Amino acid sequence: MEIADLPVPPDLARRYIDGGITELYPPQAACVEAGLFSGKNLLVAIPTASGKTLVAEMAMHHQAGRGGKCLYIVPLRALASEKFEEFSGKGLRVGIATGDFDRRDEYLGRNDIIVATSEKVDSLLRNRTPWLTEISLLVVDEAHLIDDPSRGATLEMVIAKLRHKNPGMQIIALSATIGNPADLAGWLDAELVESEWRPVDLREGVFFEDGIRFADSIREINRKSKYDDLDLVLDTVAEGGQCLVFVSSRKNAEAFAKRAASGLKLANPVLAGYADKIRSSASTDMGKTLAACVAQGAAFHHAGLSREERGIVEAGFREGQIKVISSTPTLAAGLNLPARRVIVRDYLRFNAGEGMLPIPVREYRQMAGRAGRPRLDPYGEAVLIAKSEEMVDELFDYYIEATAEDVRSRCADEAVLCTHVLSLIATGFARETGEVLGFMDGTFYAYQGESPRALKRAVDRVLEFLREAEMITEVGEWLEATEYGSLVSRLYIDPRSAEVIVNAMTRQKDYTDIGFLHLLCTTPDMSTLFVRKNDMYALDRFLADHREELWMDIPWDAGEEFDRSLKTALLLTDWADEVGEDVICERYSVGPGDVYGMVESVAWLVHASRHLAGLFAPHLSDPIEEMELRTKHGIKKELLPLIKLRGIGRVRARRLFNNGIDSIEALREAGPEKVAKVLGQGIAAQIFEQLEGRREEIADPGEEQSTLSRFG
Ligand code: ADP
Repeated sequence: MEIADLPVPPDLARRYIDGGITELYPPQAACVEAGLFSGKNLLVAIPTASGKTLVAEMAMHHQAGRGGKCLYIVPLRALASEKFEEFSGKGLRVGIATGDFDRRDEYLGRNDIIVATSEKVDSLLRNRTPWLTEISLLVVDEAHLIDDPSRGATLEMVIAKLRHKNPGMQIIALSATIGNPADLAGWLDAELVESEWRPVDLREGVFFEDGIRFADSIREINRKSKYDDLDLVLDTVAEGGQCLVFVSSRKNAEAFAKRAASGLKLANPVLAGYADKIRSSASTDMGKTLAACVAQGAAFHHAGLSREERGIVEAGFREGQIKVISSTPTLAAGLNLPARRVIVRDYLRFNAGEGMLPIPVREYRQMAGRAGRPRLDPYGEAVLIAKSEEMVDELFDYYIEATAEDVRSRCADEAVLCTHVLSLIATGFARETGEVLGFMDGTFYAYQGESPRALKRAVDRVLEFLREAEMITEVGEWLEATEYGSLVSRLYIDPRSAEVIVNAMTRQKDYTDIGFLHLLCTTPDMSTLFVRKNDMYALDRFLADHREELWMDIPWDAGEEFDRSLKTALLLTDWADEVGEDVICERYSVGPGDVYGMVESVAWLVHASRHLAGLFAPHLSDPIEEMELRTKHGIKKELLPLIKLRGIGRVRARRLFNNGIDSIEALREAGPEKVAKVLGQGIAAQIFEQLEGRREEIADPGEEQSTLSRFG
């Protein structure tokens, strides 16, 4: 099927053709035949890199051409930016929504395409964002993630709510290959487009001793070292390809990158340039290790990397200079970073309470699917490593020849149900128990025929909790959210977290930083740091001196959970006390990316707590408001007056303060010349423009200047 014959705007078609896309891939043509351009719902379950995004993009342009509005849901923020960039500059107005959860973002409604995470869409629904009713095409990327234990229920509820609101809306769900695509398609009233077709041939095999065993042949590998994984990498690089190596932990990723670097020993000015760039922004040992590896043509990739580091590694690999990346499985989940050979080295993973378990087939498929760059590689290879002869067959059976697992609904889990039932009531989707159950009838859970009685029991328990917490109340025969309940729903925090926070705040007379941050670290919304044996000394010492500053009694059976929350709270207090990023990373054994993630989560909970304090504990409102700014910027209290100015962040405010300029008045007194000496001419001029003239130039300190963007 030719691009030129499709009902897409001529400019878009021209762009594709100029970029070398003249004809649809067979599964894409199947989508057109199944009704892509005639408003049919589709479930597109085809392998990674077989052109799903293009299918969605064509449909969005077609819709927009007829005055429609499209919402593109992605699972991760990083993917939202990737898609936003991909769709931008092609003739449509594109917006991205990943920011704060209690905004309606009305301006976003001006766009033809809005890219958002499922959590963000959920929060827009809770805040009754008007343009959501105008959505005429919903694209759900990575729709199999409905099965994700922690976030799947949100995705499922968001789809159900949008369908409920916009009955005529077209849905295009894009999914990796799954075991039960017909089920998912049935729920969505969608035509199923299923295919195993790939643009580059994929050969899957198992390595043992000195060869990769494919189904019908063996490829011999020249042994150069005692390491299977390294020799597999060197073999691909020798024939001009690149490798991705998937391992189970960050430590393993770093260790393998070091091994690969000393095996490859590449050296050229381009690699040296990347390494310099990483070194100049790296403040941690991890960054220095990464730079040393990259200088020799190898890299590692995991969630602990800073944004700059990630960017350099990805670009260096795309440009073909970095020959191998060892990565935790996070890389397989989204990023479009193909390589000729993918080595799935660690297929066992530690699961809390269950020990080491094999990873699911679907995950193996996603990793394997990264093998082979279209138009660049003659084929792709996915290789598992066996430790014994018998394992070769086992790995073939378990992964290569197996069908992917079925996806199942995660909706009936009480913890998630609690959040969603409150939001159904607060937004008027449901006004009594029957309506809650009626709404749940439209979910994938109900479609899969899971026990309706179990669901009813779970809903009853959740309603009981919400009633007791006074988040909902009965008015006659109707359920209504109280002011507290609506606030919690709009703030987008777990109702159980809200209860923990409110209960402690109403009892607490005096504010302390550590007490407050520790409280937030005990809520279910906060993920906490792993505690090692050698952390215990520092935690015990801290408790000996500061126990009375905590807002909760230490339970007599305080265990790991308590230690974790305390360690996390200490990291966050360090952050708000301007402890350097390098020191924090060293002290808590984390990477800059982790610090970013934790600060971001807690900043949200602090923000929510400020609103909750307004209702229940006004005596704590002021210090919490200060802490909101301090966590956002990573600054001590003394810098708060300065941060109000546009262009002044953590570093500049500190410089001014250390030069004796500690307030707006002091700035005025110091005058432009002295300030220019501290901060340079340009910034000084900008500051005095703000001070002299228009007051509205002084920024709302809660917005835009966040120091967080340094990491994100
Ligand atoms: P998926 O979303 O399935 O992982 P993508 O849509 O990202 O795959 O496509 C992978 C690559 O293939 C992209 O670089 C895209 O431009 C290219 N591509 C998509 N469709 C075609 C086509 N019909 N012909 C040639 N290249 C294509």
